[in-house]
Amino acid sequence: MAKQTMRIILSLIVITTTAQLSLQSVNAQIEKRPHIKIRGVYGGVPTQLLEQNKTLPELGINAIFMGSGGLTQERVALLKKQGAKVFAEFNTLHVANYLKEHPDAAPIGVDGKVCPAPQGWQGICPTHPGYRNYRMDEFRRVLKEFEIDGIWLDYHHSHASWERAVPDMPDTCFCERCLKQFQRETKTNLPDAPASELSKQLLGKQKETWVQWRCDVFTDWVREFRSIIDEMRPQALLGTFHCPWTDTDFNGALKNKLAIDLKAQAKYVYIFSIMPYHARFNHPHDPAWISRQTSWLGKHLGIKGNPGEQHKIWPIVQLSDWGESVPVEQVNSVLDHGTRLPATGVMVFRWGSLHPQTEKVDAMIKSYQSLKP
Ligand SMILES: [Zn+2]
Repeated sequence: MAKQTMRIILSLIVITTTAQLSLQSVNAQIEKRPHIKIRGVYGGVPTQLLEQNKTLPELGINAIFMGSGGLTQERVALLKKQGAKVFAEFNTLHVANYLKEHPDAAPIGVDGKVCPAPQGWQGICPTHPGYRNYRMDEFRRVLKEFEIDGIWLDYHHSHASWERAVPDMPDTCFCERCLKQFQRETKTNLPDAPASELSKQLLGKQKETWVQWRCDVFTDWVREFRSIIDEMRPQALLGTFHCPWTDTDFNGALKNKLAIDLKAQAKYVYIFSIMPYHARFNHPHDPAWISRQTSWLGKHLGIKGNPGEQHKIWPIVQLSDWGESVPVEQVNSVLDHGTRLPATGVMVFRWGSLHPQTEKVDAMIKSYQSLKP
């Protein structure tokens, strides 16, 4: 009898200790991380927090990212008063409304016909001169009107739906304009054949030239954005929200399909906000995927996270439920992996759907406060 009681007591001790340990590992706060200069929230002014008479510095937040269309003088002034940096997000190649009046800007598929928007993600032909002017004018206006600390390119990739576990990335754009510009700029002569024939050739034996030319077209947009910043607000940062894959993930889709040449863009853009939305992108139980992708990016671009480096990595990490949900127990771990070197800043995706989940907001604040130097 005594032996049995002893055994029960012993197993109770084991159970309690294990439970405490696992609770500790969940609640263990991140240590101070002085290399992290930006602790941001993406998706607008967190008015729900300010209305509770809380200030952003006491919550550990020092930067707000918001859509350039949502900027107002009042909002910028309010955030500056809170001591926060204000960064604008800028839609480059995903203004679908433009096609209503300019159908000739729709991307053309391998069959020579307008390529339907994959899962509703409508892209635009990257060589349409009217569309490019329209975006450059808007970029200039945002920088002129608002005292922002930086502007981040968004959707700067080809017509594709990649923000999901299984991406849908049709090959485009085989419009007459793109085909002509390709021949002119790469000194290639294509036969007089319909686009449905030429696309086979371009994705076959000429694929390397075709892929690099498309990447160069997208990079040239970045060159122009940089020149506008230098002219309008040279102290503002130029960042980009970009696909979190490595150069080999999905058979090299980063360049082959999405036309994102990170090394080439690094000539003009200095802050890389990789988007490792672990839950959304099929890694719901593996927040460490975030730091693995960030680490790859650092090696790829030669960024270590040292003070004084011109290029920086500030990942945007997923706390709100999108596709897959993010449990409250994961918040600390997501921010832990999001703030490991070479990252020197981090921001949370995204306020609009996160703020009603107050438990997660509290966990985010706790993590930000604990890693704040
Ligand atoms: Zn085109």
